[in-house]
This record gives sequence, C-alpha cells and structure tokens, in this order.
Amino acid sequence: MAHTVTLIPGDGIGPELAEATRRVLDASGVAFEWEVVEAGEASIAEHGTPLPEHVLASIRRNRIALKGPITTPVGGGFRSVNVTLRQALGLYANLRPARSIKGLDTRYEDVDLVIVRENTEDLYAGIEHMVGPDAAESIKIITRYASERIARYAFEYAVANHRRKVTAVHKANIMKLSDGLFLESCRRVSVDYEGQVEFEDRIVDNMCMQLVQKPDLYDVLVLPNLYGDIVSDLCAGLVGGLGVAPGANIGEDGAVFEPVHGSAPKYAGQNRANPTAMILSGVLMLRHLGYPDVADRVELAVRDVIAEGAVVTHDLGGTAGTSEFADAIVARLGSASDAPAATR
Ligand code: NAD
Repeated sequence: MAHTVTLIPGDGIGPELAEATRRVLDASGVAFEWEVVEAGEASIAEHGTPLPEHVLASIRRNRIALKGPITTPVGGGFRSVNVTLRQALGLYANLRPARSIKGLDTRYEDVDLVIVRENTEDLYAGIEHMVGPDAAESIKIITRYASERIARYAFEYAVANHRRKVTAVHKANIMKLSDGLFLESCRRVSVDYEGQVEFEDRIVDNMCMQLVQKPDLYDVLVLPNLYGDIVSDLCAGLVGGLGVAPGANIGEDGAVFEPVHGSAPKYAGQNRANPTAMILSGVLMLRHLGYPDVADRVELAVRDVIAEGAVVTHDLGGTAGTSEFADAIVARLGSASDAPAATR
C-alpha cells in the first residue's frame, strides 16, 4: 500500500530540492503517493495567504508531510509559516541530527550529535509588541508542560537509539525563572532514566564554545526553541554546512520533515543547491514510517556518492547540479538493489 504524503515544495530553492528528494524516495522501493500543496510565497498570489487551510487539512489527513523551506519576510510581512504550522499541528519536537559525512572538508571527522529542540514556545513564538514608538517587547513563555514533554522526548529518543547522554542547554543563570523552569523540568524527567541515560546541563554560551572545540563530548542536546534554532545551525556547520543538515518536526498527531536550512533565494532556479538536507529529511521520514532498512540504504547511497566526490554540489566543493546529484543517488540505489545481498 502506498503512503500518502503531503509534499510542500516551498519557496526559493525548495521546489528543486523537493523534486530531487521525491525522485530519490520513489527509487527507494517504498511506494509513495505525493499530495502536492503550495505554501509560502507561491500560495499568496493564488490564495491570499501563505498557509491556506487546505494545506493544514492535507497534513492533518495524511499525518505526514515533507516540506521545502519557506521564506519569512524580515520585519514586516506575514508571520512565519513554519512557526504557525508547528503550532497549529502541535509539532512539539524538532529533531535535528548532525552527523559527519566522509569526504567533506570539515574540522572534525566523527561528529554525531542530535539536537532536540522545543518547537512551540519561547521567544521563537514571536509574541511581541511595540511599547511606545521607541521600544519593543518580546515575551518569552516557558511552561513546565512543554519543557517536561520535550525532555521526555529527548530521553525516550536516547533510549530508543542507544544514546548515552542527554545535555540540557539553557541560560538559567540569567533567566532564572523561564530557563530555570526548563532546566528544572529536564532534571525532574532525567530521574526516570537514571542508570539508563546520563544527564548533565550546560549554559548556552559555554555550550557553543564547547561544541566548536570538543563536539565528541556531547550526544543528545535538549534545548528551548530559540537556542535550539541557533545551536542546530552551529552543529550543521560542524558537519559540512546547511546543505547537509536534515530535520523533523514531530507531534502526537503528525510529523513534518524538512531541512534545517532556509529558501536560499540567491540560488533559486539555478539547479545549484544541495538536496542532501532534504533527502536526509526524507530518510528520517522513512524511519518514522517504520522502514529502518530502506532508510539505511538511502542514507548509505547519499554518503557513498558524497564520499566518492565525483558528483557533488557547489557547496561541497563540486560542480554538479541539484538534479545530477539526485541522479547519482538514484543510480546508486538502483545498482545496490540489483546487486546480490552479500555484496551490498
Ligand atoms: P538559508 O538557510 O536560506 O541560507 C543560509 C546560507 O546557506 C546561504 O549562504 C545559502 O545559500 C546557504 N544554503 C542554504 N541551504 C543550502 C543548500 N541546500 N545548498 C547550498 N547552500 C545552501 O538562510 P537565510 O538566508 O537566513 O534565510 C533565507 C530565507 O529562508 C528567510 O526568509 C528565512 O526566514 C527562511 N528560512 C526558512 C526555514 C524553513 O522553512 N524551515 C528555515 C530557515 C530559514
């Protein structure tokens, strides 16, 4: 039976990456039916809104979506579609693995980190207003409910994926109430996993320095929304950049898989951007759907093509276009499934 998946191509480089990803996933052997819906700039002209109700309805119905990046205007303009979507669908956990890929020119060779970012509250919710003409106020809300929920997700992820440690990241020395509550919630949840998963905490500024100097000391990181957003780009930088950083937004009633990066408007329509991050988001989707072996096979095909280095995109030092890179992965998947199992 085919899995019906909502596919949101998105803005900027999104449509090219979505097409490349769709081709790779279709070659994986799992049957997909893609329900393509537009959100973002493409949808404003037609529907007058960047996030029409039928897009949310499609994801609610299918409970699963693959999404390209969506442009968010700086300053004025519409509210972030990404934030609205995560809140509307209760996608409370943002999972962003950062794992080294052989063949890429990076400072470290064995980075293997998993960011678990709270996805619904904190300053990132964008609750703000002007206080008179010359001052603006942003409201940071942290709740015990959301903090314990994300901490539990991080620990459950660690147990299910044989991870040794969870590190809570915060600024509770300064924001004693809000980040203090986040930290207290993580500590409280950690007690249920004593003996199974180690727990520690770090102040966010120190965490950034430590990640740059000694990423091997860390494993699963759990963070409030805004720090999670920032630290996950830092971790992407450790493993080859935004072009290779996948992500998943997970909730009780559905999941949306999307790369960490944005719409990179300067590369839009040039067949130049790297589809790896979106393809690896598709790999996370395959795992979520219960196909770990297929997910491993697709991930290996991506890693093999990058390690060989003959067909890689510009951001990775190559000259291949988005579609040529996808072709190479599809060819790799084809040759792997033709080969006898013993040689795979
Ligand atoms: P960006 O991620 O689009 O680009 C940052 C840098 O990384 C640029 O140099 C870009 O060219 C490069 N880059 C990103 N993805 C790449 C890829 N796949 N291949 C090669 N190079 C890649 O970040 P930005 O410029 O800050 O944001 C652009 C727009 O995207 C903004 O409107 C922002 O709000 C939006 N955005 C959306 C999402 C999302 O939809 N989830 C996430 C982040 C940013």
